[in-house]
Amino acid sequence: MKVRKLSPHITKLETWAIFKMSAWLVQCHDGVYIIDSGMAHMGKRILQEAEKLGEVKAILLTHGHSDHIGGVQPILAQKDIPVYAHSLEHVYIEGKEPFPGRKAREKLLPEGIIQPLPTDEQGHLSVIQDLVPYHTPGHSPGHVVYYHTKDNVLISGDLFTSKRGRLQKPMKMFTANMAEAVRSGSIVRELKPALVSIAHSHDVADAHMQIDHYIQANA
Ligand SMILES: [Zn+2]
Ligand SMILES: [Zn+2]
Repeated sequence: MKVRKLSPHITKLETWAIFKMSAWLVQCHDGVYIIDSGMAHMGKRILQEAEKLGEVKAILLTHGHSDHIGGVQPILAQKDIPVYAHSLEHVYIEGKEPFPGRKAREKLLPEGIIQPLPTDEQGHLSVIQDLVPYHTPGHSPGHVVYYHTKDNVLISGDLFTSKRGRLQKPMKMFTANMAEAVRSGSIVRELKPALVSIAHSHDVADAHMQIDHYIQANA
């Protein structure tokens, strides 16, 4: 597993299995947050790397696909911490409904493991330490990105892929609603992160400079 420090508080862990798989470690004031957990075989190593950085507080998921959630149970087998995902993602993760566009249900985790990301009275996702979650549906209904305000980095899960420094659409065969996913990309225009960190591709610097083109080209 490749360990890459992206910014003062964020480390990206990468491995290759057909394509690149990623998880992120975020060092906050109160401890370390694991964002996504890769495939099952990645879980143990992700936890080891996280524990080198401090007390591990929680797992935050960008969405429920198996390549982001597989490491959850291996991590929980060693460390009892809460696991959060957007509430819209729970029925798919718990195998009650198939992900939109797929035929079969997948019981990725037993009921009762995943908790909904906390929200305020207006229903907006609550800030978690230095991370601001934003709902970015399309790739999956409850897809979320996490913006690190101090480091100005957007941990974007499967909102995009990239090629030679250019933003590209998420992988078509795994994306529930491509038009909605492309529109959700406009979060980059709003936040102007210095770096967009991408699960299955190279990260993209100054993505806001190309976001209008990305949205027009893929609308
Ligand atoms: Zn995905
Ligand atoms: Zn993925």
